[in-house]
Amino acid sequence: MEQKAHILIVEDEQKIRTALTDFLEFHDFKITEAADGLEAERTVAKRRFDLILLDLMLPKISGEQLCTRWRRDGMQTPIIMLTAKGQQKEKVMGLNIGADDYITKPFSLEELLARIKAVLRRIDPARAVGQTFKFADLDVDIAALKIKRTRACATTGADKKKEIEITKREAAILQYFAANPNRVISREELYKEVWEETMTELGTRTTDMHIAKLRSKIEKNSADPQIIKTVRGAGYKYEN
Ligand code: CA
Repeated sequence: MEQKAHILIVEDEQKIRTALTDFLEFHDFKITEAADGLEAERTVAKRRFDLILLDLMLPKISGEQLCTRWRRDGMQTPIIMLTAKGQQKEKVMGLNIGADDYITKPFSLEELLARIKAVLRRIDPARAVGQTFKFADLDVDIAALKIKRTRACATTGADKKKEIEITKREAAILQYFAANPNRVISREELYKEVWEETMTELGTRTTDMHIAKLRSKIEKNSADPQIIKTVRGAGYKYEN
C-alpha cells in the first residue's frame, strides 16, 4: 500500500490550522501541526516530512527565517508559503528564500489542494506515477527494471511482448518524464531531479549520454526520436 504523504502545517491561527488539518486529512494526507516557529523548527529536526505549509508571519521565529535556515542547512522538503495580503508574492519571491510555491490568504482550500498536488508531483515522480506505468507504447516496471513493448508478431499476428532491461538511472529518468508530460524539461532540471546534483559540464554530458542510451532502448529509430523528443536549445519533452 502506498504511504500517505505527511504534511507539516505551520500556522499560528488556530482556526486556520484546524480547518487545514481537517480538509487535508479528509483528502488522505497525514498531518502534523505546529503553532509557532519554534515548535516548527523542533518538529522538523525530529522527522522528515513530504511537504511543509509554512505561514509567513509566525510568533517566535518567522516563516521567512525558518525557510532560510532550512534551505541553508540543505533541507530539500518542498515548502508552500502561506502569505497574507500585503506581504505577497513580491516579498516571498523577492526574498528568494527557497520556497517552492506560495499562496495568498484568503485562499480556497481547493486551490491549496491543487498546489500541494502539483508540488508533490514535481518533487516526487514516484508518488505521481507509481512503480508501474505506461510510457508511450511501453509498459514500465520500476521495481523489476524492465520495460515491455507490445508488438504484433509478423508470422502469427499475435501480440508479443518484447522485454527490455533498463538501469536504475534510466528508470528514474522514465519516471520523471512520465510524471511531467507535455512539458519541456531542461538538462539542468533532469540532472537535478535524477542525479540530485547541480549542473556542471560533466553533468550535461552525463545527461545526454543517458538519454541517448535510453533512446536506443525505447525508440524505434533513435536517430529520429518520437517518445522523448529534443526541444532545440531547451531540453527534452515527453508528449502524452
Ligand atoms: Ca500568522
